[in-house]
Amino acid sequence: MSDDFTFTLEAKDGRARAGRFTTPHGEVLTPVFMPVGTTATVKAITPAQLEEMDASLVLANAYHLYLRPGDEVVAEMGGLHEFMNWPKPVLTDSGGYQVFSLGKNSEIDDDGVTFKSHIDGSTHRFTPEKAIEIQESLGGDIIMAFDECTEPYDRANAEQAMQRTHAWLERCIEAKKRDDQALFGIVQGAVFPELREQSAKFVSSLDLPGIAIGGLSVGETREEMLSMLDVIEPILPEDKPRYLMGVGTPEDLVNCVRRGMDMFDCVLPTRMGRNNAVFLRDGSRLPLKNAPFARDPSPIDKECTCYTCRNFSRAYLRHLVVVKEMLSATLLSIHNLHTLIQLTKDMREAILAGEFEEFVTSWEKH
Ligand SMILES: [Zn+2]
Repeated sequence: MSDDFTFTLEAKDGRARAGRFTTPHGEVLTPVFMPVGTTATVKAITPAQLEEMDASLVLANAYHLYLRPGDEVVAEMGGLHEFMNWPKPVLTDSGGYQVFSLGKNSEIDDDGVTFKSHIDGSTHRFTPEKAIEIQESLGGDIIMAFDECTEPYDRANAEQAMQRTHAWLERCIEAKKRDDQALFGIVQGAVFPELREQSAKFVSSLDLPGIAIGGLSVGETREEMLSMLDVIEPILPEDKPRYLMGVGTPEDLVNCVRRGMDMFDCVLPTRMGRNNAVFLRDGSRLPLKNAPFARDPSPIDKECTCYTCRNFSRAYLRHLVVVKEMLSATLLSIHNLHTLIQLTKDMREAILAGEFEEFVTSWEKH
């Protein structure tokens, strides 16, 4: 690992971990929830608002930025930090997941994937080398290996995709030139314990600065997801951050921190915010559009310290939603993001204090 990146495991309580990951653009304290800024913006949220909610690491996506505005444009504008005016750490996803989920008529072979853009149907080809080149142009602090994510239940397909993911990871390591970026490998293997075990062993053997777990939260049940973590976690090295991709909800964060995961991202808080939905700290949803809220002077959550809850009533927020004002997306997204960020910060404090199980018990009762 380059000197720019160090991970210190500060405390462990059961399997839950508190850590400190340093990057060229600052420290990330784990457990951490990363707001998703797919196209170099966290939807409806300004960098100043992200700063206020104490976001430390923001995620952007190579597939989307390669198509628009083009990774070479971002490079010309000084890289992602400069372009989106986010001075803190940035993680870019390799685009592997989007090539398969958004790209049309994707044709995969052992060398890479040819796909049609979901925007204009134009043909493009991603290989591990291309995914690294794009992410080097974008300039995030953490970059992700190019992987193949499959649907959860097809074993033959999952095994082939896992083998490809491993071969592609070796090519990503070979292709990587910048030493101010940390490359994370990705564990695949769908819901098959023996594949997950094999993949976790392979990725762990490569001494990368961090390890991600992909292909979960893609349609399998919550019990299956958690049981895969029980297989993978004991294999992972203690001294590397573990990133569970695409998770999640408040319940998922608590359950997965409890199983030794450190980093999380999910579009849910901002997607819900744009769809008039808010969650409370315990994961329950508040149907803000319902009539009883029309005259409710209380905030979304009395205990929440976010900008929205400190300043606005449920009655006002419901009004914005009903008249379809743009501000509702911003205010509701602030609350949802803050809720997840605060939850990870509270879990971190509990782990450092050796009181994580007490924390979980009181959270469950909440
Ligand atoms: Zn709030």
